[in-house]
Amino acid sequence: MSLSEFELIARYFSPASDRADVILGVGDDAALVRVSNGMELAVSVDTLVAGVHFSLDTPAAAIGHKALAVNLSDLAAMGAQAAWFTLALTLPEADEAWLEQFSTGLLRLADRHGVALIGGDTCRGPLSISIQVLGQVPAGQALRRDGARPGDVICVTGELGSGGVGLAVCQQRLDWPLTVGERNHFIQRLERPQPRLAAGQALRGLASAAIDVSDGLAADLGHILSRSGVGARVDLASLPVAAAVRIHGGDDWWHWPLHSGDDYELCFTVPPARYQELMRRLDELGCSCSRIGEIRAEPGLKLNGLHGLIDAPVKGYRHFQ
Ligand code: ADP
Ligand code: MG
Repeated sequence: MSLSEFELIARYFSPASDRADVILGVGDDAALVRVSNGMELAVSVDTLVAGVHFSLDTPAAAIGHKALAVNLSDLAAMGAQAAWFTLALTLPEADEAWLEQFSTGLLRLADRHGVALIGGDTCRGPLSISIQVLGQVPAGQALRRDGARPGDVICVTGELGSGGVGLAVCQQRLDWPLTVGERNHFIQRLERPQPRLAAGQALRGLASAAIDVSDGLAADLGHILSRSGVGARVDLASLPVAAAVRIHGGDDWWHWPLHSGDDYELCFTVPPARYQELMRRLDELGCSCSRIGEIRAEPGLKLNGLHGLIDAPVKGYRHFQ
């Protein structure tokens, strides 16, 4: 590398943090942070590998943004507040233009959510980015996957399927006559997901279970169902999708929200008695939310469509299949 590893870290990954709870950040053998009284640590890690999670022609700023966004989305799904993160970066070469854009995309999103980069690791090899995030959640209040009960309402934030459409657009797999605005919308949804941190925190004390939708609603809601030991009915007509998905998606439009990935919205369940209060809180945040079905005692995911209740096909992105 033309830049030494240490110059690279100093130039691109040593932001000044204004968080008072960072005792020691980048530069020592380990970082030191102060955990607040009465809080539990929420810890999560995610890796993005070039050619698997993003194509090599993705803009570097978008890769930086997304690497952090997908991790923050996991904290959002726990109802946690994001606080700190570490970055393990494997690079084929020290390309300064790439590093400048990557770190800008990454650190802008970090700033927006007040989360501090406190350390990491840098080495040479095929491009891969691992980020570990640490957040805090009041003791006992984290949103887990195992609390859904029969009768609970199932909801999702925002819109589903658009990340998957964005990927299909980038890979030129779609012949939909999209406007430039629509194309940009879908690519933006793929490359710049916005983690639902404020919404996640608003769900605390009200939602019975939550997960972020990264692998398609069917797969991710499926995790809530199996961890909670319940089943569900999802009403296809109520799935929130961009207008273009209904217009151009044909009879099978509902595969986009159910079976494509990269949405990073929240799916959660809430007992009916708390539903109004939850909607009020999300409305205050300006977070759109759709009621899409109901938890049932009978196991399995049923889809309620034109032809009555049918079993959901088993699909979703899997790395080893
Ligand atoms: P060590 O040999 O103790 O693992 P390193 O040389 O890997 O130390 O890292 C030196 C310092 O720089 C450490 O504080 C580490 O956390 C930080 N660091 C290394 N790579 C990165 C990175 N990509 N982003 C942020 N901090 C980093
Ligand atoms: Mg190291």
